[in-house]
This record gives sequence, C-alpha cells and structure tokens, in this order.
Amino acid sequence: MQGLMMSAPLLISSLIEHAGRHNGATEIVSRRVEGDLHRTSWGEVQRRSKRLANALIAMGVVPGDRIATIAWNGYRHLELYYAVSGIGAVLHTINPRLHPDQIAWIVNHAEDARLFFDATFVPIVAAIGARCPTVASWVLMTDADRMPTDAQGPELACYEDLIDASSDRLAWPVFDENTASSLCYTSGTTGNPKGVLYSHRSSVLHAFGAAMPDAMGISAGDSVLPVVPMFHVNAWGLPYTAALAGCKLVLPGPALDGKSLYDLFENEKVTFSAGVPTVWLGLINYMKQHGFAFSTFKRTIIGGSACPPAMIRTLNDDFGVEVVHAWGMSEMSPLGTTCKLANRHLTLPRDQQLRILEKQGHVIYGVDMRIVDPDGHDLPWDGEAVGDLLVRGPWVMREYFKAEGGDPLVVDEDGVSWFPTGDVGHIDADGYLQITDRSKDVIKSGGEWIGSIDLENIAMAHPSVLMAAVIAVPHPKWDERPLLIVVRKPDRDVSRADLLAYYDGKIAKWWTPDDVVFVDSIPLGATGKMLKTRLRDTYRDHRLPTA
Ligand code: ADP
Repeated sequence: MQGLMMSAPLLISSLIEHAGRHNGATEIVSRRVEGDLHRTSWGEVQRRSKRLANALIAMGVVPGDRIATIAWNGYRHLELYYAVSGIGAVLHTINPRLHPDQIAWIVNHAEDARLFFDATFVPIVAAIGARCPTVASWVLMTDADRMPTDAQGPELACYEDLIDASSDRLAWPVFDENTASSLCYTSGTTGNPKGVLYSHRSSVLHAFGAAMPDAMGISAGDSVLPVVPMFHVNAWGLPYTAALAGCKLVLPGPALDGKSLYDLFENEKVTFSAGVPTVWLGLINYMKQHGFAFSTFKRTIIGGSACPPAMIRTLNDDFGVEVVHAWGMSEMSPLGTTCKLANRHLTLPRDQQLRILEKQGHVIYGVDMRIVDPDGHDLPWDGEAVGDLLVRGPWVMREYFKAEGGDPLVVDEDGVSWFPTGDVGHIDADGYLQITDRSKDVIKSGGEWIGSIDLENIAMAHPSVLMAAVIAVPHPKWDERPLLIVVRKPDRDVSRADLLAYYDGKIAKWWTPDDVVFVDSIPLGATGKMLKTRLRDTYRDHRLPTA
C-alpha cells in the first residue's frame, strides 16, 4: 500500500524558493574582490539567480552542461549555485589554488561548457583559455565599468550585463531529484584529481542533516560566516543549509587574514563559522596580539584535518567559542561525524568532556560507519581497536565522475556496499569516532600503528610551536619511525631535546619521534592542509639518529 502524501522531488531550487519567499529580507553580506562590502538579501539572490538562469538558457546552456566557477565566497557565486543547478546544469567549482596546468586538466576532463570567474583570476583564465576548447564563454563576475580593456587570453563576457539583459520571471523546471547538481574534484594525493558528482537529492538531504542541532545546528537566528571556500565541497554545504534555515550569510571573499576576518565577525555579528584548523591560527594570533574578544561569535565547526586539542581549548577557554570538531570528505558532501556531548556526558568533569570533544565525533543521521580489519571483518567499538573506516549513506559517493579509478566500493557479507574512506581510527562504546591516521599516510613501526595526529597534537600544544607535522621515515629495524617537523613561533626558541622531552608521559615511550627537523614553513595544499606526501618525499632520505 502506498502512502497518500504529496511527492515533491528534493531539488536545490526549492531551497532558494524557500529562502526568497519566507526569509526574503534576511541579509547576505559579501566582501568583494574590490575590497568593499556588498549587501543583498535572500529575496534579491532569488530574483537575480532567476535572471542568471534565464541568461544561461539564452546562451544555450542545456541540462547536464558543466558550468565552471573559479571564485571566492561571494553573492555572485551564490547566485551561480542556484541558477546553474536550478535549470538542471551542473555547477563545477574549481579550486583556484591549484596550478594552472591542473586547472586546465580539470576543465578539460569535466568538459566545462562555460566558465565564470572573479577578477582575481583573470591571469588564470589568460593562462588556460587557449587550452580549454570546450569552454564556449568566459564570464567575468563583475560590473560593466570594471571590465578590463587589455586582458590577455579569451574574449570575456560581463556577468552584470548578462543579469541586466534577462528577466526574473522563471518557473524552475521540475526533474528527477537524482539529477547531477554540482561537481568538485578532490585534490588527489596520488594520480590525477577525481570528480565527485553530487545530486540534488544528496545535496538537499545533506543540508537537512547539517542543520540538525548535533551537527552544525543552524537556525534563522544565526549569522553564518563560511571561511571554508565555496570551491571546496560546496563550502561544506553551507550555501544550501543557510538557505534552508533562512539565516544571515556573511561571505568573506578573498580576505582571510586575521584582521579582515575579525572585522567581519564583529561588524556582521557573526554567530557561527566553519573552516579548517589552519585558518583559525591567523585569527587567534591577531586577536591575542591586540587583546580582542568576540562579542557575538559562539560556535564554530572545525574539520578537514584533525583539530589540535590546544586549539579547541584556546577557542573555548580564551574566547568563549564552542568548537564542534567534524570529520568528513569530499566524497561525503562532506559531513560524516560531528562531536557534541550526549546527555550522559553532561555530568562528567570538564576535563573528561574535553577529551570526548577532541574526537571526530558521532555520525549524524544519514551516515553509517564501520571499522574493519585488513580482511574486512568488523572490529569492536571499544575505543581501542584501530581499523579502516568505511561509510555509507545517501550523501556518500558511489563512483567518481566518468568512473575514474574504477568501482571504489567494497561489499560486505550481507551484500551491502560501503565506501572505504582511506582513514583509520577507532570507535568507542558510545559511537564516537577518533581518527588516528590515514591508510595512505600512516606510520607503522614494528607492525604497530603510531598515531601521527596524536604526535602532532602534542607538539602543537607546546608554547613555542606554531605548526607541526609528523611523518613516517624509513627505518632499518622498525620499517618506519616518526619524524617531527616543526615551525617555531616568531621570537620563540625550543630545542630538539626540549621537544622530545615534552612527549614524556603523554604517550607510550616508543611513540616518541626519533628526530626533529626545524623548518620555516610547512607546505600546505590548496585546501590549507599540510602536504604530508610532499614532506615524505622531502625527508625520504633523512637519516634518523636511531637508524
Ligand atoms: P574535507 O577537507 O572537506 O574534509 P577532503 O576530501 O579534502 O574533504 O579531505 C578528506 C580527508 O581529510 C579525510 O578523509 C580525512 O583524512 C581528513 N579529515 C577530514 N576531517 C578530519 C578530522 N576532523 N580529523 C582528521 N582528519 C580529517
């Protein structure tokens, strides 16, 4: 027997319709490439995304076409999110921090039909224009009077001209909710980048999941500032979740330094933010230098790589900001787990609570996870047994774009398919995941795991350490041993012996790194994560004193 409820496909256009119709006056504030602040509203974004959709249709864009963006977090990028997906085309967000050769490779692999970009990226377009034959128009996201007259490369169209020439009368088309909505290539530690192709259904369900209190907990009362870029996993889905919740959205554009962010947090009364750990370093330093405090900022989600416990404590204790540690990946839209206390944890002493909050957390409804041994057998959830982490759910990828890399899924004995994350960790009896390592980025000493993340976290808690990475270095006896690579804080000194002694009593003795290297900087990938693969290459021949 069928239920007798209306059937409405879960389409991204329904999010902007909801926000425009029911929270139309709520503000969207953007810092533009030009440096000024721009103010609009959900109602205006709804109208302009319809104009843009009509413009795209007039240009000849058809459902399934890939429409690329190389852009910061801003209102025009937001309009593209809704206009492109709304007409059944695929929004392909590209990471501008990649090398132009890699960008050209991605544009060609995706066969992008149009490319929209911010003024910052005119040089990228000049560099790749001639190499991207599928791109029929290059649209500069600016006003007519700011169009460059002497730009090298392909002929450019003007974004505001397209909007001005189009009507805002449009009924969004209704189609299958499993239609592709957006595309994002993962940075790819090995081989070429691979595309993750999200659907309308996966994106809307993820937005519901993300809004829940134990996930991002976003409501109409919030002012949300995504530091995480809109070119990286759809800014963790925040442009969709914010529309669903009808909250104020503050988009920081290209200015991610401590001062610019702090000004925006204060002036726009930001209550919630999201970003990878490294982005908070600059902000915290700036605020400490000036003795500043936050007046409205209360909660932030930190993920993308392990959040050092020292950062959780600093934000909590010194700045009154609740840190929700989260784990996920591009292939998961990205949310998998978020770390909030359960009811039974509320009476625990603060120190024990903090130890729970340092974990990557509990799955949110929609995601299921397992940890397995090398033969694929389930490991106990005892907070100790460490294994490979597998996930499944309606916003988890089943295959890369164009079947790149073959079928990634593994099938369990009940015939159920799981996505292997490449992450390694344990799960405790309460269902809290702790990532201890990555299967492609692990240290195995004498057949035993050493948690590089634990070692980094301890080093990061040292008052003289600005940044720390721990990598595996070949060792004749133990196969691999940990090497600690450290960037010291300016004006601070610390010796190798001091740092190694700092581990005493905090970990098993044999986990202590065998050596320390001091560097001026640690290479970061395009998404702000430490490039462990690069470090491993650099220090492959490093001679450990114990070798
Ligand atoms: P995102 O940066 O959005 O998480 P990516 O696809 O770039 O997505 O990277 C996903 C990988 O980043 C994960 O597989 C995991 O290795 C690592 N990662 C993400 N969040 C965490 C976290 N909280 N702790 C440890 N590692 C994490």
